[in-house]
Amino acid sequence: MYKCLQCGKEVSSLITGTIRCPGCGFKVFAKTRDPVAKTVKAL
Ligand SMILES: [Zn+2]
Repeated sequence: MYKCLQCGKEVSSLITGTIRCPGCGFKVFAKTRDPVAKTVKAL
């Protein structure tokens, strides 16, 4: 699970190359399953 850092929407899976929030279009996510919040940035 990934969580959008802008609107907080959770996304179950992200397709490589099109990492984008379906809600707001933001491209920065945090892994919700990871005990240590890790930021994932789309290239
Ligand atoms: Zn969002």
